[in-house]
Amino acid sequence: MMAVRRALKAVLVDLNGTLHIEDAAVPGAQEALKRLRSSSVIVRFVTNTTKESKQDLLERLKKLEFDISEDEIFTSLTAARSLVEQKQVRPMLLVDDRALPDFKGIQTNDPNAVVIGLAPEHFHYQTLNQAFRLLLDGAPLIAIHKARYYKRKDGLALGPGPFVTALEYATDTSAIVVGKPEKTFFLEALRGTGCEPEEAVMIGDDCRDDVGGAQNAGMLGILVKTGRYLLYAFPNAFPKTGW
Ligand SMILES: [Mg+2]
Repeated sequence: MMAVRRALKAVLVDLNGTLHIEDAAVPGAQEALKRLRSSSVIVRFVTNTTKESKQDLLERLKKLEFDISEDEIFTSLTAARSLVEQKQVRPMLLVDDRALPDFKGIQTNDPNAVVIGLAPEHFHYQTLNQAFRLLLDGAPLIAIHKARYYKRKDGLALGPGPFVTALEYATDTSAIVVGKPEKTFFLEALRGTGCEPEEAVMIGDDCRDDVGGAQNAGMLGILVKTGRYLLYAFPNAFPKTGW
């Protein structure tokens, strides 16, 4: 059934690739955000991150002179935390140490769940085996997202996906994925705005994660031709190191 589109009340905006690319602002993005702010719509910033806490993101955005407050940011780590709270589980946090502030106050002793993000420092046999055993005991596997790989300054690098898949394979279970493009991610991001998906639009640079995900959740999706879009459209225009 086609959703009936209503007046636009909320705008979800992606961060990396849309407002900024690593430590540089996308030209014109601050100005565009100001114009958006001068209208009456509610703005939320949504991003897939497995290692940057909200505080880290906020500091970077402040440096780039974006006017954004902490409660406007919704990340895949936020989504993982709310799922942990909903399920009332004590997770083994297989995440980068920099992500830990976003789980402050969550009980982690005697774990009965596994939360997994990109954690290169922790992805070794012993910790993965510990997670494996918890899963065998029936602990749910919560994945921040399942990206296969990502682009780093020194070239492509393994994402969290292959490690999530290894645990799924070993235990014959499926992870609950919480980041974009999951439908629940977009609905969670809208929660508290009082808006329905039909009243919201998502702006991002990723055709699948931003636009496809939002459309699947009943929102409009707008693709900006910056960041990842350029990487997909013109892969040969980018050198192998950095982008
Ligand atoms: Mg992006």
